[in-house]
Amino acid sequence: MKTIDLRSDTITLPSPEMRRAMAEAELGDDVFGEDPTVNCLQDIAAQLLDKEAAVLTTSGTQSNLIALLTHCRRGDEVIVGDQSHTLQFEVGGAWAVGGLGLRSVRNDARGRLDPTELAAAVRPDNDHFPRTRLICVENTHNRCGGTALNEEDLASVRAFADRFQLALHMDGARLFNAAAALGVPPAALASYADSVCFSLSKGLGCPVGSILCGSAAFIAEARRYRKMLGGGMRQAGVIAAAGVYALQNMVRRLKDDHENAQFAATGLAEIPGVALTPPPETNLVYFTVAGWKLPEFVNRLAEAGVLCFDEGGRVRWVTHFGIERADVEQAVARTRSVLAAAA
Ligand SMILES: *Cc1c(COP(=O)(O)O)cnc(C)c1O
Repeated sequence: MKTIDLRSDTITLPSPEMRRAMAEAELGDDVFGEDPTVNCLQDIAAQLLDKEAAVLTTSGTQSNLIALLTHCRRGDEVIVGDQSHTLQFEVGGAWAVGGLGLRSVRNDARGRLDPTELAAAVRPDNDHFPRTRLICVENTHNRCGGTALNEEDLASVRAFADRFQLALHMDGARLFNAAAALGVPPAALASYADSVCFSLSKGLGCPVGSILCGSAAFIAEARRYRKMLGGGMRQAGVIAAAGVYALQNMVRRLKDDHENAQFAATGLAEIPGVALTPPPETNLVYFTVAGWKLPEFVNRLAEAGVLCFDEGGRVRWVTHFGIERADVEQAVARTRSVLAAAA
């Protein structure tokens, strides 16, 4: 029986073509800015998002922390969504490493920041208060179902940031999924934010890496924080070559993952007791199963050869490179059997 691993798009493995690009990469010392492949990746990324500059980092977590450190000073406050990855899953790095406060406001079901709570979260200019410096948005929004913030959503948070002279950072770990789902260029989404990061190691299939983009001055400063955090890598072109390959070859197939997610959702919705929460927009499928303790259900699925996580009171399936339509069909069929056997 083939195991179907739907735990995350981070489990994707580099294709033979990507490995070849890595093996053949031209290298130099990137801490000196002399790795031609890293420089090439950074140029392509900056151009793709229509930003002045970009920097390769070790992970999405590092990109976000570097962005926060670069935008803020110790003691400043950062507004984040209560369901955001930065608040929930990044080890409190902003507090621990940056001396920054994370002030959370409610995310709505589509991952937008509640406007009333957002307005109340900005501190007035007063000696008693920390300075509010930055707003972070997440696109697509992981915990809110892989939902994509569209240009209208982003324009409204941008206008708000401008009104209070705040910077805006976009955690676009899955930015290319958002762009594919909305049918807009990634630069259109990036244009609303001062800084944007995206993951190479998720749906784009690279073994490691993330890219942070912004103005030339911002990225120059970000490079200092990257070095401070231990992210100065030497012949990082072996990693960057995978990134170049991904941006040229892997972005266009993300729509296949979205179609597979839709296909999974359609199949799951036909099973009694299964409810999609919400129906998928991109490559994340969240659902609940009536009458089960979730960890137990996830264990039973694993015994049936379908791996997934129980995430925030729901089951999460992630479609990705390496998961074909037939695998999704199998996963739905096995889910149906697990539930039928227990009925
Ligand atoms: C995965 C993810 C990150 C962190 O990326 P890592 O490379 O795992 O550190 C940040 N934000 C979001 C929305 C993510 O999904």
